Amino acid sequence: MKKNTNKTAAAAYRKPAPDKQKTTAAASGKPAQDKKKKSRCPVSGQCGGCSMIDVPYDEQIRGKQKILDDLIGEYIIPDKFIRMKAPDHYRYKVTSVFAPDRKGKPVCGIYREGTHEVIPVKSCLIEHIQADRIIQTIYSMLPSFRIHVYDEDMDIGLLRYVQVRAARATKEIMVTLVLTDPVLPSRNTFVRELTKRHPEITTIILNVNDRNTTMVLGNRETVIYGKGYIEDILCGKRFRISSRSFYQVNPLMTEKLYNIAIDCAALTGRETVLDTYCGIGTIGIIAASRARRVVGVELNEDAVRDAQQNIKMNELDNIEILQGDATEFMVEMAQEGTKADVIFMDPPRSGSTEEFMRAACNINPKKIVYISCSPWSLARDLEFFVENGYEARMAIPVDMFPYTGGIETVVLLTHIK
Ligand code: SAH
Repeated sequence: MKKNTNKTAAAAYRKPAPDKQKTTAAASGKPAQDKKKKSRCPVSGQCGGCSMIDVPYDEQIRGKQKILDDLIGEYIIPDKFIRMKAPDHYRYKVTSVFAPDRKGKPVCGIYREGTHEVIPVKSCLIEHIQADRIIQTIYSMLPSFRIHVYDEDMDIGLLRYVQVRAARATKEIMVTLVLTDPVLPSRNTFVRELTKRHPEITTIILNVNDRNTTMVLGNRETVIYGKGYIEDILCGKRFRISSRSFYQVNPLMTEKLYNIAIDCAALTGRETVLDTYCGIGTIGIIAASRARRVVGVELNEDAVRDAQQNIKMNELDNIEILQGDATEFMVEMAQEGTKADVIFMDPPRSGSTEEFMRAACNINPKKIVYISCSPWSLARDLEFFVENGYEARMAIPVDMFPYTGGIETVVLLTHIK
């Protein structure tokens, strides 16, 4: 229950996860580009973050559409993808690894695909431009502050990662320095120098990760500048986001995703709604003004704290967010005989659990709106719902991750009478 699931491996930010690798290979079917033609990205083919960087957008979408059709077509024929108009620099969260290269020179960038070797990257076509610049500035400041990058093999050095998160609507920017030790040399001078060079930074956090792990963020944090979180606005609501809380990386498409998900529920103001795997409460908070009551559940404590603040900030009195495991929560709700009209579920890539879904079916909502970031786990979970009294009525894919194999889909399930 207390486990923090939001500390994601740097590798996962940059490299396709196993299921995405499948997507990528299949979706691109090996880019139909001329081999001699120069790639748009100097490190393409090494980092694997956006394996389709040289594949025309239409072709990327066709590939993803086919994968989705093949996986869930037996339950519902998906709509056409909602596409991104200008699919560049859409990632508002950027993580850079700091490490010595083979010769011991400090570098920052990304892991070479499938390894722990760091490929230097100065800028990336899918990342927020200013975030990349801030990371380069930090890199340039290392020698004068005598900050050593972390050497994994030797287990020495201080700086492991820099994570930058930007808020599209408010322009606030959070910088998280992930260190092996809570003490940053000449901390105040460092902050002064960095914020002088980047006045757009609104908060800086020191995160301590001293464990031998592939997770980026550790559990201990100190705010060394600003308020310790950023705020963004989505669908007219304001959200506070802490460094360890989940927040979608592509804000422009996230608004579309949430609007689609909430439209699917066709709320009238009379419904009791559950927002499961709710993160900082985004979907539930946006839905709250159109529902009678909303209850959210989320495992990550920081995200729950954000969600509770977000409820206050948006002056809502018909929503509460609980901390805990979504499966346990659903089982309890079902046992208590709680009624809900609509269940939103937005599980991590691995999908939901059978117990969760069985409890959801027992609660017997008219509608289940499933927001999925993996069509493989979605297909598995749809099978369960279809065998247990629900039918898929709509599947709307939203291209949240252009140039990568990521496939995000909203599926509306309704109860068969
Ligand atoms: N709906 C939110 C978050 C989606 S990401 C949004 O749109 O921003 C999935 C969320 O599920 C993450 O916040 C993660 O911390 C949470 N999570 C993962 N496993 C969980 C579990 N077993 N129970 C509850 N929440 C979980």
